[in-house]
Amino acid sequence: MKPVAFMMSLMLSLVPLASHAAERPINVTTSFSILDDMVQEVGGEHVHVRSLISPEGDAHGYNPRPRDVGAIAQADLVVFNGLQFEGWMSRLLDAAHYRNPVVIASDGITPLKNQEEHDDDDHDHDAHEHEAGHEHHHHHGPQDPHAWQDLRNGAQYVRNIRDGLIKVDPAHADDYRQRADAYIARIMTLDGQIRQQMQQLPKDSVVITGHASFNYFANAYGLPFMALQGLSTEDDPSAASVAGLVRTVNEHHVRALFNESMTRSALLNQLSQETRVPIAGTLHSDALAAKGDASTYLGMMQHNADLLYNALHAPAAPRP
Ligand SMILES: [Zn+2]
Repeated sequence: MKPVAFMMSLMLSLVPLASHAAERPINVTTSFSILDDMVQEVGGEHVHVRSLISPEGDAHGYNPRPRDVGAIAQADLVVFNGLQFEGWMSRLLDAAHYRNPVVIASDGITPLKNQEEHDDDDHDHDAHEHEAGHEHHHHHGPQDPHAWQDLRNGAQYVRNIRDGLIKVDPAHADDYRQRADAYIARIMTLDGQIRQQMQQLPKDSVVITGHASFNYFANAYGLPFMALQGLSTEDDPSAASVAGLVRTVNEHHVRALFNESMTRSALLNQLSQETRVPIAGTLHSDALAAKGDASTYLGMMQHNADLLYNALHAPAAPRP
Protein backbone atom coordinates (compact mmCIF):
# COMPACT_ATOMS: atom_id res chain seq x y z
CA MET A 1 0.00 0.00 0.00
CA LYS A 2 1.32 3.45 -0.90
CA PRO A 3 1.93 5.78 2.06
CA VAL A 4 -0.86 8.18 0.99
CA ALA A 5 -3.36 5.40 0.57
CA PHE A 6 -2.29 4.01 3.92
CA MET A 7 -2.82 7.38 5.60
CA MET A 8 -6.24 7.70 3.95
CA SER A 9 -7.38 4.32 5.17
CA LEU A 10 -6.04 5.10 8.63
CA MET A 11 -7.97 8.37 8.70
CA LEU A 12 -11.14 6.74 7.41
CA SER A 13 -10.98 4.14 10.11
CA LEU A 14 -10.08 6.58 12.88
CA VAL A 15 -12.51 9.39 12.18
CA PRO A 16 -15.73 7.52 12.88
CA LEU A 17 -14.22 5.95 15.97
CA ALA A 18 -13.16 9.32 17.35
CA SER A 19 -16.48 11.06 16.79
CA HIS A 20 -18.70 8.17 17.91
CA ALA A 21 -16.59 6.73 20.68
CA ALA A 22 -19.13 7.65 23.35
CA GLU A 23 -21.96 6.12 21.33
CA ARG A 24 -20.42 2.77 20.48
CA PRO A 25 -23.19 0.19 20.94
CA ILE A 26 -22.36 -2.37 23.57
CA ASN A 27 -21.67 -5.87 22.28
CA VAL A 28 -24.08 -8.44 23.67
CA THR A 29 -23.61 -12.11 22.84
CA THR A 30 -26.59 -14.39 23.47
CA SER A 31 -26.73 -18.14 23.27
CA PHE A 32 -29.90 -18.53 21.18
CA SER A 33 -32.47 -16.69 19.09
CA ILE A 34 -35.18 -16.01 21.70
CA LEU A 35 -32.71 -14.17 23.94
CA ASP A 36 -31.36 -12.35 20.90
CA ASP A 37 -34.83 -10.88 20.26
CA MET A 38 -35.37 -9.97 23.91
CA VAL A 39 -32.02 -8.15 24.18
CA GLN A 40 -32.78 -6.26 20.96
CA GLU A 41 -36.17 -5.19 22.37
CA VAL A 42 -34.67 -3.87 25.61
CA GLY A 43 -31.42 -2.54 24.19
CA GLY A 44 -32.65 -0.88 21.01
CA GLU A 45 -30.01 1.23 19.29
CA HIS A 46 -27.62 0.99 22.24
CA VAL A 47 -26.79 -2.65 21.66
CA HIS A 48 -25.21 -4.77 18.99
CA VAL A 49 -26.52 -8.29 19.53
CA ARG A 50 -25.19 -11.51 18.11
CA SER A 51 -26.47 -14.97 18.83
CA LEU A 52 -24.25 -18.04 18.87
CA ILE A 53 -27.12 -20.21 17.62
CA SER A 54 -29.15 -18.85 14.75
CA PRO A 55 -32.96 -19.09 14.39
CA GLU A 56 -34.17 -22.68 13.86
CA GLY A 57 -31.00 -23.90 15.62
CA ASP A 58 -30.96 -26.43 18.41
CA ALA A 59 -29.20 -25.38 21.62
CA HIS A 60 -29.33 -28.75 23.36
CA GLY A 61 -27.05 -30.66 21.04
CA TYR A 62 -24.94 -27.67 20.11
CA ASN A 63 -21.20 -27.96 19.66
CA PRO A 64 -19.52 -24.55 20.03
CA ARG A 65 -17.31 -23.59 17.10
CA PRO A 66 -13.96 -21.77 17.32
CA ARG A 67 -15.56 -18.48 16.21
CA ASP A 68 -17.94 -18.66 19.20
CA VAL A 69 -14.92 -18.17 21.46
CA GLY A 70 -14.29 -14.88 19.64
CA ALA A 71 -17.95 -13.86 19.95
CA ILE A 72 -17.72 -14.36 23.71
CA ALA A 73 -14.30 -12.70 24.07
CA GLN A 74 -15.54 -9.54 22.29
CA ALA A 75 -18.73 -9.27 24.35
CA ASP A 76 -19.44 -6.58 26.93
CA LEU A 77 -22.31 -8.75 28.19
CA VAL A 78 -23.18 -12.44 27.71
CA VAL A 79 -26.80 -13.55 28.09
CA PHE A 80 -27.82 -17.18 28.30
CA ASN A 81 -30.82 -19.16 29.53
CA GLY A 82 -29.36 -21.25 32.33
CA LEU A 83 -31.13 -24.26 33.90
CA GLN A 84 -28.53 -26.30 32.00
CA PHE A 85 -30.13 -25.53 28.64
CA GLU A 86 -26.67 -24.61 27.37
CA GLY A 87 -24.54 -27.25 29.07
CA TRP A 88 -21.59 -26.12 26.95
CA MET A 89 -21.63 -22.46 28.08
CA SER A 90 -19.28 -22.59 31.07
CA ARG A 91 -16.58 -24.29 28.99
CA LEU A 92 -16.99 -21.60 26.34
CA LEU A 93 -16.72 -18.75 28.88
CA ASP A 94 -13.55 -20.36 30.22
CA ALA A 95 -12.08 -20.84 26.76
CA ALA A 96 -12.68 -17.15 25.97
CA HIS A 97 -11.25 -16.00 29.35
CA TYR A 98 -14.47 -14.03 29.69
CA ARG A 99 -14.52 -11.64 32.67
CA ASN A 100 -17.35 -9.20 31.82
CA PRO A 101 -20.86 -9.52 33.30
CA VAL A 102 -23.14 -12.45 32.58
CA VAL A 103 -26.95 -12.53 32.65
CA ILE A 104 -28.60 -15.86 33.39
CA ALA A 105 -31.98 -15.00 31.91
CA SER A 106 -33.96 -17.53 33.94
CA ASP A 107 -32.70 -16.23 37.31
CA GLY A 108 -35.59 -15.76 39.71
CA ILE A 109 -38.17 -17.94 37.96
CA THR A 110 -39.67 -20.97 39.66
CA PRO A 111 -38.26 -23.94 37.75
CA LEU A 112 -40.32 -26.99 36.88
CA LYS A 113 -38.92 -30.46 37.27
CA ASN A 114 -37.41 -31.93 34.13
CA GLN A 115 -39.91 -34.47 32.87
CA GLU A 116 -37.70 -36.01 30.25
CA GLU A 117 -36.10 -39.21 31.36
CA HIS A 118 -33.36 -40.64 29.24
CA ASP A 119 -30.91 -43.41 29.94
CA ASP A 120 -28.64 -42.20 27.19
CA ASP A 121 -26.01 -39.93 28.68
CA ASP A 122 -24.11 -38.90 25.58
CA HIS A 123 -23.25 -35.19 25.83
CA ASP A 124 -21.64 -34.85 22.45
CA HIS A 125 -24.43 -34.97 19.94
CA ASP A 126 -24.01 -32.75 16.94
CA ALA A 127 -27.23 -30.98 16.01
CA HIS A 128 -26.44 -31.60 12.35
CA GLU A 129 -26.44 -35.34 12.85
CA HIS A 130 -30.15 -35.25 13.57
CA GLU A 131 -32.15 -37.02 10.93
CA ALA A 132 -35.77 -37.89 10.58
CA GLY A 133 -36.56 -40.51 13.16
CA HIS A 134 -33.29 -40.00 15.01
CA GLU A 135 -33.93 -37.25 17.47
CA HIS A 136 -31.38 -36.97 20.20
CA HIS A 137 -32.92 -34.09 22.03
CA HIS A 138 -31.66 -34.45 25.53
CA HIS A 139 -31.98 -32.25 28.53
CA HIS A 140 -29.53 -32.70 31.32
CA GLY A 141 -30.13 -31.62 34.83
CA PRO A 142 -33.03 -31.93 37.22
CA GLN A 143 -34.87 -28.80 36.02
CA ASP A 144 -36.78 -28.14 32.85
CA PRO A 145 -34.95 -25.36 30.95
CA HIS A 146 -37.80 -24.22 28.64
CA ALA A 147 -39.03 -21.54 31.06
CA TRP A 148 -39.68 -18.89 28.36
CA GLN A 149 -42.74 -20.88 27.27
CA ASP A 150 -44.58 -19.17 30.16
CA LEU A 151 -44.81 -15.47 29.26
CA ARG A 152 -44.62 -14.44 32.93
CA ASN A 153 -41.21 -16.08 33.02
CA GLY A 154 -40.43 -14.20 29.80
CA ALA A 155 -41.11 -10.97 31.69
CA GLN A 156 -38.60 -12.06 34.34
CA TYR A 157 -36.04 -12.78 31.58
CA VAL A 158 -36.56 -9.18 30.40
CA ARG A 159 -36.01 -7.79 33.90
CA ASN A 160 -32.74 -9.70 34.17
CA ILE A 161 -31.63 -8.52 30.73
CA ARG A 162 -32.54 -4.91 31.65
CA ASP A 163 -30.45 -5.11 34.84
CA GLY A 164 -27.50 -6.58 32.93
CA LEU A 165 -27.60 -3.82 30.33
CA ILE A 166 -27.80 -1.14 33.03
CA LYS A 167 -24.77 -2.69 34.73
CA VAL A 168 -22.55 -2.48 31.65
CA ASP A 169 -24.04 0.75 30.24
CA PRO A 170 -25.40 2.86 33.13
CA ALA A 171 -25.44 6.00 30.92
CA HIS A 172 -28.53 4.62 29.16
CA ALA A 173 -30.25 3.20 32.24
CA ASP A 174 -33.42 5.27 31.75
CA ASP A 175 -33.78 4.06 28.17
CA TYR A 176 -33.36 0.45 29.20
CA ARG A 177 -35.97 0.85 31.96
CA GLN A 178 -38.49 2.47 29.64
CA ARG A 179 -37.99 -0.05 26.86
CA ALA A 180 -38.18 -2.97 29.31
CA ASP A 181 -41.39 -1.59 30.87
CA ALA A 182 -43.03 -1.20 27.46
CA TYR A 183 -41.93 -4.69 26.38
CA ILE A 184 -43.10 -6.28 29.63
CA ALA A 185 -46.49 -4.60 29.16
CA ARG A 186 -46.80 -6.25 25.72
CA ILE A 187 -45.69 -9.59 27.18
CA MET A 188 -48.31 -9.43 29.95
CA THR A 189 -51.05 -8.42 27.49
CA LEU A 190 -50.29 -11.48 25.36
CA ASP A 191 -50.13 -13.60 28.52
CA GLY A 192 -53.71 -12.57 29.33
CA GLN A 193 -54.87 -13.21 25.76
CA ILE A 194 -53.38 -16.69 25.62
CA ARG A 195 -54.83 -17.54 29.04
CA GLN A 196 -58.30 -16.61 27.73
CA GLN A 197 -57.79 -18.49 24.45
CA MET A 198 -56.69 -21.69 26.17
CA GLN A 199 -59.57 -21.52 28.68
CA GLN A 200 -62.00 -21.80 25.77
CA LEU A 201 -60.58 -25.15 24.68
CA PRO A 202 -62.41 -28.35 25.62
CA LYS A 203 -61.27 -29.56 29.03
CA ASP A 204 -60.17 -32.93 27.65
CA SER A 205 -57.76 -31.47 25.07
CA VAL A 206 -54.40 -33.18 25.00
CA VAL A 207 -51.56 -31.95 22.83
CA ILE A 208 -49.00 -34.39 21.46
CA THR A 209 -45.66 -32.97 20.32
CA GLY A 210 -42.18 -34.23 19.56
CA HIS A 211 -40.17 -33.39 22.67
CA ALA A 212 -41.04 -32.27 26.17
CA SER A 213 -40.51 -28.53 25.77
CA PHE A 214 -44.00 -27.22 26.55
CA ASN A 215 -44.29 -28.05 30.25
CA TYR A 216 -44.15 -24.38 31.23
CA PHE A 217 -46.80 -23.54 28.64
CA ALA A 218 -48.95 -26.42 29.89
CA ASN A 219 -48.48 -25.34 33.49
CA ALA A 220 -49.21 -21.65 32.84
CA TYR A 221 -52.14 -21.97 30.45
CA GLY A 222 -53.74 -25.20 31.62
CA LEU A 223 -53.36 -27.34 28.53
CA PRO A 224 -51.89 -30.83 28.96
CA PHE A 225 -49.04 -31.75 26.65
CA MET A 226 -47.58 -35.17 26.00
CA ALA A 227 -44.27 -35.61 24.24
CA LEU A 228 -43.50 -38.52 21.96
CA GLN A 229 -40.04 -38.70 23.44
CA GLY A 230 -41.51 -38.97 26.90
CA LEU A 231 -43.64 -41.86 25.70
CA SER A 232 -41.03 -43.51 23.57
CA THR A 233 -37.32 -42.81 23.78
CA GLU A 234 -36.44 -45.31 21.09
CA ASP A 235 -34.99 -43.93 17.87
CA ASP A 236 -36.74 -46.61 15.93
CA PRO A 237 -39.74 -47.64 17.97
CA SER A 238 -40.80 -51.20 17.68
CA ALA A 239 -44.23 -52.06 16.36
CA ALA A 240 -45.27 -52.64 19.97
CA SER A 241 -44.41 -49.13 21.13
CA VAL A 242 -46.10 -47.58 18.08
CA ALA A 243 -49.18 -49.58 19.02
CA GLY A 244 -48.87 -48.11 22.51
CA LEU A 245 -48.76 -44.59 21.08
CA VAL A 246 -51.78 -45.29 18.90
CA ARG A 247 -53.64 -46.51 21.99
CA THR A 248 -52.65 -43.36 23.90
CA VAL A 249 -53.92 -41.13 21.08
CA ASN A 250 -57.24 -42.97 20.96
CA GLU A 251 -57.72 -43.13 24.74
CA HIS A 252 -57.15 -39.41 25.13
CA HIS A 253 -59.36 -38.45 22.18
CA VAL A 254 -56.50 -36.47 20.73
CA ARG A 255 -57.81 -34.03 18.12
CA ALA A 256 -54.58 -33.02 16.48
CA LEU A 257 -50.87 -33.72 16.42
CA PHE A 258 -48.23 -31.01 16.16
CA ASN A 259 -44.83 -30.95 14.54
CA GLU A 260 -42.04 -29.07 16.23
CA SER A 261 -39.84 -26.74 14.25
CA MET A 262 -36.54 -28.37 15.14
CA THR A 263 -37.50 -32.00 14.99
CA ARG A 264 -38.98 -33.65 11.98
CA SER A 265 -40.59 -36.74 13.27
CA ALA A 266 -41.16 -39.80 11.15
CA LEU A 267 -42.84 -41.25 14.21
CA LEU A 268 -45.38 -38.42 14.33
CA ASN A 269 -46.22 -39.00 10.65
CA GLN A 270 -46.66 -42.69 11.26
CA LEU A 271 -48.86 -41.99 14.28
CA SER A 272 -50.97 -39.59 12.24
CA GLN A 273 -51.45 -42.15 9.48
CA GLU A 274 -52.39 -44.95 11.83
CA THR A 275 -54.77 -42.94 13.99
CA ARG A 276 -56.11 -40.66 11.21
CA VAL A 277 -55.50 -37.75 13.57
CA PRO A 278 -54.19 -34.88 11.44
CA ILE A 279 -50.94 -33.00 12.00
CA ALA A 280 -52.25 -29.47 12.53
CA GLY A 281 -49.04 -27.54 11.98
CA THR A 282 -45.70 -26.65 13.51
CA LEU A 283 -45.14 -25.39 17.04
CA HIS A 284 -41.98 -23.47 17.87
CA SER A 285 -40.40 -24.33 21.19
CA ASP A 286 -36.66 -23.77 21.48
CA ALA A 287 -35.86 -21.42 18.63
CA LEU A 288 -37.45 -18.62 16.65
CA ALA A 289 -38.32 -19.09 13.01
CA ALA A 290 -35.90 -17.50 10.54
CA LYS A 291 -38.79 -15.46 9.10
CA GLY A 292 -42.55 -15.08 9.35
CA ASP A 293 -44.86 -14.69 12.32
CA ALA A 294 -42.76 -16.83 14.69
CA SER A 295 -39.56 -14.87 14.15
CA THR A 296 -39.92 -12.89 17.40
CA TYR A 297 -40.54 -14.13 20.94
CA LEU A 298 -44.03 -12.61 21.14
CA GLY A 299 -44.78 -13.69 17.57
CA MET A 300 -43.73 -17.24 18.37
CA MET A 301 -45.92 -17.41 21.50
CA GLN A 302 -48.89 -15.99 19.58
CA HIS A 303 -48.29 -18.38 16.65
CA ASN A 304 -48.27 -21.38 18.98
CA ALA A 305 -51.40 -20.27 20.85
CA ASP A 306 -53.32 -19.53 17.63
CA LEU A 307 -52.31 -22.86 16.11
CA LEU A 308 -53.38 -24.76 19.24
CA TYR A 309 -56.62 -22.81 19.49
CA ASN A 310 -57.58 -23.28 15.84
CA ALA A 311 -56.79 -26.99 15.89
CA LEU A 312 -58.47 -27.83 19.19
CA HIS A 313 -61.45 -25.52 19.71
CA ALA A 314 -63.69 -27.22 17.15
CA PRO A 315 -65.67 -30.21 18.40
CA ALA A 316 -63.88 -33.45 17.61
CA ALA A 317 -64.99 -35.01 14.36
CA PRO A 318 -66.53 -38.44 14.78
CA ARG A 319 -63.92 -41.15 14.28
CA PRO A 320 -64.44 -43.86 11.69
ZN1 LIG B 1 -35.79 -28.37 24.12
